[in-house]
Order: sequence, then C-alpha cells, then structure tokens
Amino acid sequence: MAEGKLIVVSGFSGVGKGTIIRELMEMHQEYALSVSATTRDPRPGETNGVQYHFITREQFEQMIREDELLEYATYLDNYYGTPKSFVRKKLEEGRDVLLEIELQGARKIRAAFPDALMLFIMPPDAATLRDRLVGRGSESPEVIEARLRRAGAEAEGIEEYDFVLVNQDYHVCAREMHQLIEAHHRRTIFHLDFIEQVRRDLQDL
Ligand code: 5GP
Repeated sequence: MAEGKLIVVSGFSGVGKGTIIRELMEMHQEYALSVSATTRDPRPGETNGVQYHFITREQFEQMIREDELLEYATYLDNYYGTPKSFVRKKLEEGRDVLLEIELQGARKIRAAFPDALMLFIMPPDAATLRDRLVGRGSESPEVIEARLRRAGAEAEGIEEYDFVLVNQDYHVCAREMHQLIEAHHRRTIFHLDFIEQVRRDLQDL
C-alpha cells in the first residue's frame, strides 16, 4: 500500500485553522490529525489528548532528549511539538496526516520531508483576524497583542508554502483543502514507478 502524505497546515492565530480542520475531518474520516504536545495551559473547553497533549516543560524536554518529536518550536514562551510515533504509524497505514503547526515547525518538516504539502490559511483581511481573536474571548489583551505581532512575523514566510487558502467561509475552505490534497496525490513524483512501467511497456508494444 502507498504511504500516506504529510500535510502541513499553518495560519495566523485566530484564523480558524481548528474549525476548518474539524470540518475537513467530518467530511473525510480517512485523514488522521496529529495531536501535538504543548506546555501551554489548556483553554476553557480543551481536553487533554484531544486538542493537545498538555504536558510540563520537564516532560517536553525529556521528549526532545529522547528524540520523540518530529519537529518542535517555541511560540510565545511555550513549547509545541509533533510526536513522531503517531505520524509514522498513520503514514505507514496509508493515511494522510495533517500537522497543524506554525512556521518554524513547517520549515523543519519541509527540510526533512520535501514532498510534504504545505498549506497556509489566510484571513480575508487583517482586521478580520484581530476581530476574531478578540471575539474568541479566550486570551488577555496582552496575549492577543503578542499573537498579532507573531502573525506579522509569520506573514514573512508565506511564500514558502505551496498554496494559500482564504478563510472567508470555513465550509468552502475545508472543501478546497480536500481538493488540494487530492491534487497533491496526483503529482508525478509519487507515480514514478507507474510512469516507468508504462514507458517500458510502450517499448514492447
Ligand atoms: P495555540 O496556542 O493557538 O493552540 O497554538 C499556537 C501556535 O502553535 C499555532 O500557530 C499552532 O499552529 C502552533 N502549533 C500547534 N502545535 C504545534 C506543533 O506541534 N509544532 C509546531 N511547530 N507548532 C504547533
């Protein structure tokens, strides 16, 4: 069976990545979503093991030492990282794995897995992003300010991604994401054996 593909999904804090990915997973149960480890505190309504594995700094640093993370990064004084074992297992099972990670982590994935598909979700405009972050009501004004500054820094890296999606309507965005992933599967690099086989067979006709 063919291995699954790695799909990196990034986007500014508050852009609606979580909602879009939830919608995509409801429409297509074949995707696997990697649950990251983080040292940040859970927000109201977040459950350990669902949105994140919420762990201590000591536990996180132990995971780094034991090489259990595919990539990790710091974001506003907290660690965030992708556990290796889940991703490996799902890819081997032929499932596409979604990594919802920020720019530094995306760069590490790109370097280690040049064939990963890299998607960046943008807001329709900057003011919408601020309004969504404020409207979410889960962060203090200082944290919102810091997240908006970080968005400015992350905006510098958008051209490193393969495609941008604009979250005007999350249903549309989830559909477009699925279409891009399907198109990614048709890339010639993933079909070299088949192409070679047909070339050889053509000679024998
Ligand atoms: P939040 O605190 O809003 O849940 O996440 C903050 C940022 O960390 C988001 O941009 C999110 O995509 C990113 N993030 C979440 N998990 C990971 C991870 O495992 N690795 C990296 N590099 N970034 C992550």
